[in-house]
Amino acid sequence: MNCLFCRIIKGEIPSDKVYEDDRVLAFRDIDPQAPTHILIIPKQHYDSILEADPETVAYMAEISKKIAAAEGLCEKGFRLVINTGEEGGQSVKHLHMHMLGGRSLQWPPG
Ligand code: AMP
Repeated sequence: MNCLFCRIIKGEIPSDKVYEDDRVLAFRDIDPQAPTHILIIPKQHYDSILEADPETVAYMAEISKKIAAAEGLCEKGFRLVINTGEEGGQSVKHLHMHMLGGRSLQWPPG
């Protein structure tokens, strides 16, 4: 398995970690689209949300609230995004949740 995010989890590729526990890892996106742009990923590999169990997805969402608080995003708000598949814009085939914040975000995103 040559998954980029699995390699980050193993420490084979460096990352700017903001949170880690036995189930998830969160680190700063290498190409940030907002002042705060963090990726939250499960340590268990799932290609996308379509394969993931509901407990994992719920846990990622719960952890996102802790990270938002630590990043000072709760007052002004933030966005969570899970890109899925080709038309969903998913480029890395390991389930991940984007957290974007720190500026006013347009909707729809385009
Ligand atoms: P997606 O397009 O939804 O699959 O998002 C993948 C994200 O991973 C993109 O926002 C990339 O900028 C980000 N990314 C790719 N490689 C790395 C890396 N080595 N460290 C941190 N973020 C990365």
